Amino acid sequence: MQTRMRTIKPLRTSRVSMFEQTLISKLKRYVTFESSSDDWNQWFQHNQYEIEAVLDRKHFLKLKHSAFKGAKKILEQYKVDCSMPEGICSRCGGKILKVVPGETAKEEIVAFAKDSTFKNKDIIIRNEWLHPGECCKNGCYVTLHNYR
Ligand SMILES: [Zn+2]
Repeated sequence: MQTRMRTIKPLRTSRVSMFEQTLISKLKRYVTFESSSDDWNQWFQHNQYEIEAVLDRKHFLKLKHSAFKGAKKILEQYKVDCSMPEGICSRCGGKILKVVPGETAKEEIVAFAKDSTFKNKDIIIRNEWLHPGECCKNGCYVTLHNYR
């Protein structure tokens, strides 16, 4: 006797369609810098009409004209957490160095500066010193801490 194939019904618990799931995962990869903006743009171009169909006008236009910000807004709407792992800049995906006096090794500062896009990196490398605080290697953000 032949076993009857059980029909698998799609999950109806959530109203997120297959395409939306793909869209969400593409957006997430994009905002967390797992895929490049070229990859994203290409995918967007190929799927523009489908994307337009699942998003409201406002979000679609935001995504079209300001992709990165739009992507974050959309993920927020889907309640998808896209926070970056610690030590990674949420604006560019670059490494963040936390400088704590007496804890951060000079070698760490030098290696970070070499890899950075800082204009004054030569000075940092020469002095083996960075102001205590946190900064992104691309200079998107800098927080200075004062230790006494
Ligand atoms: Zn950055």
